[in-house]
Amino acid sequence: MQPLIAVVGAGLGGLTAALAFARQGCVVDVFEQSAELREVGAGIQLSPNATGILDGLALTDTLARHWHEPEGLILASGTSLRTLTRLPLGADARQRWQSPYAVIHRRDLLHALADALRDHEGCTLHFNTVVAPDGEDRTLDLLQEISGNRPDLIIFADGVWSRKRDSLAGSSPARFTGHVAWRATTDASGISDLFPPGFMGTFLGAKSHLVTYPLGNSGAVNLVAATPGEQTEARWDKEGDPAALANHFKGWNPKIIEALGEADWQVWPLFEARNNAWRDGSRTVLIGDAAHAMSPHAAQGAAMAIEDAVELACCFKCYGDDPAAAISRFTAIRQPRVDRVRKRGDLNKLAYHASGPTRIVRDLTFLVRGPRRLAADLDWLYGYRAGA
Ligand SMILES: Cc1cc2nc3c(=O)[nH]c(=O)nc-3n(C[C@H](O)[C@H](O)[C@H](O)COP(=O)(O)OP(=O)(O)OC[C@H]3O[C@@H](n4cnc5c(N)ncnc54)[C@H](O)[C@@H]3O)c2cc1C
Repeated sequence: MQPLIAVVGAGLGGLTAALAFARQGCVVDVFEQSAELREVGAGIQLSPNATGILDGLALTDTLARHWHEPEGLILASGTSLRTLTRLPLGADARQRWQSPYAVIHRRDLLHALADALRDHEGCTLHFNTVVAPDGEDRTLDLLQEISGNRPDLIIFADGVWSRKRDSLAGSSPARFTGHVAWRATTDASGISDLFPPGFMGTFLGAKSHLVTYPLGNSGAVNLVAATPGEQTEARWDKEGDPAALANHFKGWNPKIIEALGEADWQVWPLFEARNNAWRDGSRTVLIGDAAHAMSPHAAQGAAMAIEDAVELACCFKCYGDDPAAAISRFTAIRQPRVDRVRKRGDLNKLAYHASGPTRIVRDLTFLVRGPRRLAADLDWLYGYRAGA
């Protein structure tokens, strides 16, 4: 008898989980509240710890048609544009971490995952289906009613604003970080001239930073700025006020200010979820942002959701007749890893937004350590293979 798996949420975490379980011979039903697959934002960075997993799911041939592998990441001053340090990527990333560092349009990644899932008989995507945060027994009944399958395991991958997480004892709603992300896509002119072609650039300034990278191989450029900001509605698609953005970048290099002024921005409140319960009952588990949303300063939120997905499938394979044991093993493996990655993001935030004496120490540290040491510092993060 094939194990039956229910996944709530067809984001990057949910779809990766669905595919990983389907490849193990499970029957998977995915329940998504939207009417179709919906990407949140345009571009995404996929570090080698994520691309290695996607390769294991046989997606590299498809994804490589869409993604771009930057030669490196340049960290530069937002005022002088001086390069502070450089992280070698491209062929160096493939060699050092045995997998590429890639940037891609989220839509291409979501569709590659969903298409691969549809190739597995018995696996179904149910759109327009909201799964309410009930107790486990009621959820099992509901999912059986919708799909005809009574799941052996329910995976909630319902994102940062997970109502399931909020309903669990010991959990609290996602917390606003005090920062917002501004996102835009633009044509390659202007901003791309500020660093060598094919590279990613991160410009640093007091309290704010700006990340730019090619949007896959489309020729467009993805811009993400993080600044302090007000808590707005918990939604992803609010139009950003260019005057407010310009205010945060006062004193920055005029070339950056000019490039910012040319784009149409959307502004997103940044929330995070810390120290929550990751499970309910004996067969319900949370993964990805639902369990542990983090601010994007290490560009690892989706990578963690992808790692969760394959680790959970691996634990289930070992303890398939005992979902509660599989969930216990999963959380024991994943919680320390996620905590460490979150701390790395917190450190990046401190370094990226430094001013005064902290900024001087940061710049000196970059100078003394150099690109090789910077890369070596990331071995534990990018060289990790979940589910291996
Ligand atoms: C500005 C910014 C930049 C980022 N850049 C990167 C990056 O470069 N690299 C990286 O690794 N990460 C990055 N991240 C983080 C990454 O976007 C998230 O961590 C990732 O998308 C989380 O995936 P998920 O599947 O857990 O949740 P989501 O993608 O939010 O998916 C949740 C899904 O569940 C559905 N859903 C919700 N509730 C229900 C319900 N009750 N019933 C049914 N369906 C439901 C939603 O409609 C949605 O489709 C960034 C984040 C931000 C904000």
